Parts: sequence; C-alpha cells; structure tokens
Amino acid sequence: MAIDLPSRARVVIVGGGVIGCSVAYHLAKLGWSDIVLLERKQLTSGTTWHAAGLVGQLRQSINMTQLARYTGDLYRGLEAETGQATGYRQCGSISLATTAGRMEELKRNASMAKVFGLPVNVVGRSEIRSLYPLAHLDDVIGGIHIPSDGYANAVDITQALAKGARSAGARIFQDVKVTAIHNDGRRVSGVQTAHGRLDADYVVLCGGMWTRNLAASAGVTVPLHACEHYYVLFKDVPGLSPDLPVLRDYDHCSYFKYDAGKLLVGAFEPHARPWGADGIPEDFEFGEIAGDFSHFEPVLLDAMRRIPALEQAGIQKFFCGPESFTPDVRYHLGESTELERLFVAAGLNSIGLQSAGGIGKVVAEWIRDGHPPVDLWEVDVRRNMPFQINRKYLRERVSESLGLLYATHWPFRQYETARGARKSALHDRLAAAGACFGEAFGWERANWYAPAGTVPAGTAPAYAYSYGRQNWFEHSAREHLAVRGAVGLFDQSSFAKFRLEGADAQRVLNRISANEVNVAPGKMVYTQWLNERGGIEADLTVTRLTETAYLIVGGAETESKDFNWLKRHIDPSAHCVLTNVTSGMGVLSLMGPRSRELLQSLTPDDVSNEAFPFATSRTIELGYALVRASRITYVGELGWELYVPTEFMQGVYDELLAAGPRHGLVHAGYHALNSLRIEKAYRHWGHDITDEDTPWEAGLGFAVKLDKPGGFIGREALARQRDSGVRKRLVQFKLKSPQPLLYHNEPIWRGSSIVGFVRSGMYAHSLGAAVGLGYVTVPPGGDGALGGTPGGAAIDADGYEIEVAGIREPATASLRPLYDPKNERIKG
Ligand SMILES: Cc1cc2nc3c(=O)[nH]c(=O)nc-3n(C[C@H](O)[C@H](O)[C@H](O)COP(=O)(O)OP(=O)(O)OC[C@H]3O[C@@H](n4cnc5c(N)ncnc54)[C@H](O)[C@@H]3O)c2cc1C
Repeated sequence: MAIDLPSRARVVIVGGGVIGCSVAYHLAKLGWSDIVLLERKQLTSGTTWHAAGLVGQLRQSINMTQLARYTGDLYRGLEAETGQATGYRQCGSISLATTAGRMEELKRNASMAKVFGLPVNVVGRSEIRSLYPLAHLDDVIGGIHIPSDGYANAVDITQALAKGARSAGARIFQDVKVTAIHNDGRRVSGVQTAHGRLDADYVVLCGGMWTRNLAASAGVTVPLHACEHYYVLFKDVPGLSPDLPVLRDYDHCSYFKYDAGKLLVGAFEPHARPWGADGIPEDFEFGEIAGDFSHFEPVLLDAMRRIPALEQAGIQKFFCGPESFTPDVRYHLGESTELERLFVAAGLNSIGLQSAGGIGKVVAEWIRDGHPPVDLWEVDVRRNMPFQINRKYLRERVSESLGLLYATHWPFRQYETARGARKSALHDRLAAAGACFGEAFGWERANWYAPAGTVPAGTAPAYAYSYGRQNWFEHSAREHLAVRGAVGLFDQSSFAKFRLEGADAQRVLNRISANEVNVAPGKMVYTQWLNERGGIEADLTVTRLTETAYLIVGGAETESKDFNWLKRHIDPSAHCVLTNVTSGMGVLSLMGPRSRELLQSLTPDDVSNEAFPFATSRTIELGYALVRASRITYVGELGWELYVPTEFMQGVYDELLAAGPRHGLVHAGYHALNSLRIEKAYRHWGHDITDEDTPWEAGLGFAVKLDKPGGFIGREALARQRDSGVRKRLVQFKLKSPQPLLYHNEPIWRGSSIVGFVRSGMYAHSLGAAVGLGYVTVPPGGDGALGGTPGGAAIDADGYEIEVAGIREPATASLRPLYDPKNERIKG
C-alpha cells in the first residue's frame, strides 16, 4: 500500500508504543504542529499490547514518583477527554512485607510520599485482610496501601493517547520502518524509511527494545536489552472482584491483578532470561515467546500459597513476552550525548505503562524548552557510558535488572552481574589489602576494607545488607577516623579527567565556568558550570597547567555529560582541543593531617605549606614517576590528589605503602569518602546540587565571580536571583539521636509542615550521628536576600525534624559545615 509520507516534519517520533504515543500526545498538546509518528508495524504491536496494566505511583525516588503520579492523573481523565475507553480503574494497591527489611523499606517509602502529598497508608495484617480477603497472610508483617493506584488496559490507553494526539494535529503512520537516522555528525537532521527520507528538526527514539541498535547505527549510546517477562491468567477464581486492589508480594516476586474476569499473576523473578541477543525477528509483531514454564513455576507455587483460591482455579493462559531492561533499572530519557536534538525515551523496565504519561510530558517540555523541566538526572540518557551497549555486558546485567524491581532496595546494594568491566591499575593490590568493591559506572571501586588479618578468614570483604548498621559500618568508621587523625589513601582513578589545550582554552573555559579560571599556571579553581537558568550542570576542579592548557576533573558518573557539555560550548572558531584523558591517569588521594609528612618522606620536592599552598598543583617526583600533585580535598583535611600516569600507578602505590606504616597510613574506601565529605557539607553533584539548584541556593556563592570580565553562562540568572533573593537553601542537618540512619529522600519537617527532603545522608563518625543535606524553603520571616545567609536566622534555629520510616527525629540545622566550619584543617 502506498504511504504518502511528508518530506519533512518538525518532530519525528520513532515507535508507536505507549511511550511514542504519549510523546506525540504531549507535544501536540503543547501546540506543536507538524508532529509525525512512525511505527514499523501497528500501534502497540511491540511490548505495549501485552502489558499487564498496573498503574502504580510510588517509585524509589521523588521525581520518578511525581512522573508516575502525573500518569495516574492523566489516565483518570483520558477517556472523558478522547472518547476512547481506557479500562482505567482506581482500585488501589497493597504491597506486602514478610521481612523486617522490607517493612522498613515500605515505611521509608510511605514517608517519602508525604513530600508531595501522595496518600500512602501503612497497614497491618487485619487491614490487609479486609482489603484483600483472598490472600493468605500468616507470614505477612504488614504493608502499605495506596488508595489512588489502579490499573488500565495498555492497548486502550495507547489508542486514547494516539487519538488525542491526532485530534491535536499530530500525524501517525503505521507500517513505516525507520531504517537510518540522518545527521551531520553534530545534529540530527531526519530519518530514512522505505517510503523515502523525512527531514526533521527533532527525532525522538521511542522504539522500545529496538532502540539500542537503531541508536547505535548513528553512534548514539542507549544501553538496553530485552528479557522474557512472564504472567499467567487464572479463570474461575472464587471470590474475585474488579474492585480488589492490585496486590504486590515483593518478597515472593509476584503481583496479582484483576483482569477482565480473571486473575493475572505476574513475576519478577531474581534471575531473568535475556531475549533477542541475536536480533529481533523482522516479522515480530504482537509477538509472544514460547518461554519456559519451569522458569516461572517457583514463583507460581509461591503465588498459589499466597492466594489459596488459585488451587481451585484453572490456568487460562501462560504468557511470556519481551520487555527491554537497562543496566541500572532506570529508563533512558532526554537529548542524547552524541547528537543534538536526537531525543530518547526507551528502556522502560516493565513500568512503561505507569510511567508513560509523565515521560511524554517531560520529554515534550524538554524538547520545547531545550532543558528538562525538573531534575531528571537519574533517568537522563547522558549518564550512560559508551561501553554499556556491549552485548555481553547487557545480557549479563539485565538478567539481574528484572528481579531488582521487586528485590529489597537495600542501601548500598551492589550489582552482582557484569562486574569487573573497568578496573583501576591497583585493583588487584587493593583486593589483596581487603577491599570490598562496589560498582559505579562500570568502575570497580573500593568501598571499604575488611580489617587486616581477617582476609581470607574472619570478616570477608562482602556486604551483609540491612537498613541498620551494615557489616562494614565499624570498618568504614575506622577508615574515616584515621583520615581525620592520621592519613588515608583513596584510589580515585575513576575521576573523569579532560585536557583542554590551545590558544583559546582560557576563553572557552571561562565562558562556561562561574568561577574565574584565568589564573596563574599551577593554580586550581573549584567551579560550577551553569545553564542559562543558573542551575548547576557540573561541579569540577580546573587546574591551569600552562598558559594554554587546563586539566579538568569531575565525578565518574558525569564523564560523558561533562565532556559533552564542554565540547558543545567550544565555538567552531575557537582554537583549542578537548581530550578525555581518564584512562591515561590514575588518581591516588592522600588525605589527613599526616599526609604532608608521608609525602615529604618520598619526594625531593618541597611540599611545605609555604612552597605548596592550598589549591595549587605541580609536578613532583615520587618513586620512579613524575606525578601531578594537587593540593585539594573532598574530605576536609590537609591532603593531595596525586595524578599518576596509569603505567606508574603500581610503583607509586608500592612506594606509599612501604613508607605508610611510619605515618599511620590506612586504606580508605568510598563509603568513608562519603561520610567524610558529608560531615564537612561538601556537595555532591546529582544529589545535593543539580541542574535546578543555583550556587546561591546551594551555598556555593564563594565560587561565583559575577563580575569577571566577559561574564559566563548563567550569570544573568544569578544576578537576578541575587537581587530577588532565594526561596530555598541547602542546609546541613545532624540528627540529635546517634541511632537512626539517613540515606536520602527523608522528609524534613519544620513544625507541622514539610519544608524539604534529604538529598544525601550518611553517618558522620566525627560528629557521632547521621547527617543529611537538604534544601528547605526559606521560612516566613527569612528575607531570602543574599547578604550572607538568606533566611539564616530562622534556618539556623532548632525546631527541625527528619522523618525516618514514619518517626520524626529531632535534628540540628546549620548553614555552615558542622565539621571544621572555619576550614582550619585544610589550610594548615
Ligand atoms: C509481560 C509484561 C507485563 C507488563 N506489565 C506492565 C504493567 O503492568 N505496568 C506497566 O507500567 N508496564 C508493564 N509492562 C511494561 C510495558 O509494557 C512497557 O514498558 C511498555 O509497553 C514499553 O513501551 P514502549 O513504547 O517503550 O515500547 P513498545 O511498546 O515496544 O513500542 C516500541 C515501538 O517501536 C516500534 N519500532 C521499533 N523500531 C522501529 C523503527 N525502526 N521504525 C519504526 N518503528 C519502530 C515497534 O514496532 C514498537 O511498536 C509489562 C511488560 C511485559 C512484557
């Protein structure tokens, strides 16, 4: 059949599942005309048609919950708006806990939900029984009930979104496969189809499990892989009613949902089966997978124990279909790192239906505004590293991802699959020293060290998870206190490191840095890179190496994003070259009051305070190597970061270790790094500072040079905010009780109001209690002006509480770091 495709459109959306249709709907609703959606087969024919239909709202973080919550609100009115039935029913949901850890997780989530007013009731066994009489509950401790949750028919929802999009002017073409993405190497320019080329200003990839390959064909990184995903439909279940809430039995990997007169029992088994590794068949359309009943059977047997009525019911259908999963079980949204105006909304990890409304909305607004409407870093496609589309890596990791949806989300939980992808040159030496590694962005990093003499016997370097003090707590405390009292050695090789060189390097870098980087060679500058709204896009140190060369160092998690931010801001006429040198240099950080004496014992260069002041950097001799030593700290002590060519790392490490015992040197890991930095109130990008927080709000005004020559990106927004005052401030909180632990997302109370939530939390061993950083609204009476501490009088007062698993814990608030507020320990 001839298809009369236009030759150009403003936006081309690839894929007609629930995600693509929602993006089309929301763009059209924003008033954008000339939207074209292309679907290779029929709408919903990929994964969407077989979604079980759960529409839950509570996720593991605040922003993700808000997206899911918007989805529920949208679906509630969609039928009335479009005239297309959606099958949406607000039956509520119950989540069960059969272990103390799970109950704590549910209670913490219920507390988090209060931040944005989602009613979540913590319920006991008798309430659950009256809400869900079919369930056998003898092993259940309790649970949570969310009255506003529900279910819907995924096909009908998608058709309703498509209808709404068409009514608002979007055009949808079926049986049109996109075969290539056109671009000029910098920006997307359109797509190729069998029916011709379609030029476009924007392309949005919503191709579900097909997205990895299509994106990769244009050099774009979208790591995802399909897995088999199972459910069974039971018929003739005695006592079944359409008003039964959705029931989630996380500890037994199953969920139960009314489905047109049947009971649907679905599985999130711990070890999933990857699917489609050799490619997805070209004719795959409304497809099913044969599946393996024996794989599903253990979950089924547990399900029959939970709902005994299933024993009298018959199996109507055993179903297995593919869904795409991602390495960190978070979906991929936003403008790609590699190509401007190429957007992605894919990798939905089995929550596509319940996320689609929010995703469509934020992607449409992101396209319209050129930036995300809220902080979406946790799902931002730019967080991915290029290696993550490696198929062996993906196959192994997604077999774990699926089960993680229902696993207990223990604090500090580490992935068990696809480990060892990126290793520092010291990896094996650190392992021999007792390191327990965690994985971050592919890197193996020492999180803590089992005490000497206990490896291999005694305390093994392995996690025993809980919501309380985990098995590494005391070991990490020892590392923490050794850094405060003597000297600790951190391997921070995973830092992202870039060199910018050329006659225009200073001009380019100064234009994107809020601080002044036109400094003398050998000086280091702590700076943020801001967007036009004054929000913080990156948090880095910049070292001027020579008149024309800089070393830029940032966090491992933002390697791709930061590199690309800088690259996109190098104007074509600028004479400078940007190189990612992360792999070429390891980093050893020596931190603590005795770091100087240790370093001095190993180098002929003078490292005294006079010769080597704070925030300076130069090359020194150490062992056989020439090492760049930078006097800077992320833990709040005297210390140096040593940038060592990778092939010299082992030798330098061996020198330090040989001399170390005379100076009290200990190995220290990333958990200690985190507890040290948080008690010093050092910010961490992605948690405490994001693209929607400004330096004024974050208390980083000291790193802003509003009046530097030439200005910088974000300056005008900051100048306006300086005059108008801030409405929120980042505050450090210390719990008054030494017992409870803070992780993140705990609500912050002032009197009877919630005024914010904890962005990051950790136990502060020098302060003797848990500490959290969180923004609070500037209270009435606080003037919000920037003359030092806006709202300072009120913020510094007592009267704050932080809610931990339903209990409000009194906390002390401070705008100044509670540890060494005058920086005396750093500059000596
Ligand atoms: C068994 C099962 C149960 C589930 N239950 C739930 C649930 O209860 N709640 C929930 O929220 N989620 C659930 N999900 C997940 C949900 O179904 C998915 O997350 C969602 O459907 C993904 O939507 P999508 O639009 O990203 O992908 P898809 O529906 O796969 O859509 C992508 C579309 O892109 C098209 N396409 C691909 N490549 C091209 C190309 N080159 N050119 C043109 N078109 C292309 C495909 O044909 C396809 O139609 C379940 C999934 C499964 C498998």
